[in-house]
Amino acid sequence: MTATQNVHLHEINKFGSMAERWWDVQGEFKTLHDINPLRLEFIQRYADIEGKRIVDVGCGGGILTEALARHGADAMGIDLSADLVDVADLHGLESGVNAHYRKISAEDLAEQQAAGFDHVTCMEMLEHVPDPGSIISACAKLVKPGGMVFFSTLNRQPKAYLLAIVAAEQVLQMLPKGTHSFKTFIKPSELSQAARSAGLELQGMVGIEYNPFTKHFSLGKDIKVNYIAAFKRPE
Ligand code: SAH
Repeated sequence: MTATQNVHLHEINKFGSMAERWWDVQGEFKTLHDINPLRLEFIQRYADIEGKRIVDVGCGGGILTEALARHGADAMGIDLSADLVDVADLHGLESGVNAHYRKISAEDLAEQQAAGFDHVTCMEMLEHVPDPGSIISACAKLVKPGGMVFFSTLNRQPKAYLLAIVAAEQVLQMLPKGTHSFKTFIKPSELSQAARSAGLELQGMVGIEYNPFTKHFSLGKDIKVNYIAAFKRPE
């Protein structure tokens, strides 16, 4: 599959249509805002980001990209939604952070800048593309030897269907209806296998757990719903 084919236009349009509400911390993307400090904490367990060149693949409006920049990274976000790249750019200018954005696919950037980044992040994106393996390979190509690649996604487990779709979209309305489709969820074993085929070594994986009573997210052992993993490209 070529880079230009590895995209569902309905996904790009769906996220792009909500672009102006991306930074509303109480809006449709509240969950991404809520889990962002945890993602940053996990990344910093494995990587020193200060002064490091990092690309955030499928960056949306730049929630993680900006957080990386605020913590000293030279961060670039890429996404195929022009509307989201604009929102991310504007927000970055307003915040005065060292983040920049491009509308380009991971595969095309990997052709242009192979081994061009100290670390790579790709959050909540793999479950929205036709061929996640191609994104994983591109991320492996983008990172320098010795650098880290981070992925987060949803697990294709009954518990994820109940919590991420039935509870989060339909009952609690934490996410817009239709955000996720169960069949596109990715098992940790599948992610690890694809990453291994791309030459990456698994360093660690934890769950991003939600407590409906306290309404708080935390990092924990339960990877049956949402999970985040760290991989290393060997030297
Ligand atoms: N990573 C961000 C946004 C996640 S939402 C965060 O976690 O905060 C999923 C994002 O993936 C959307 O911004 C969507 O436009 C983007 N996306 C979907 N398919 C893509 C593709 N093939 N290439 C690049 N970005 C894509």
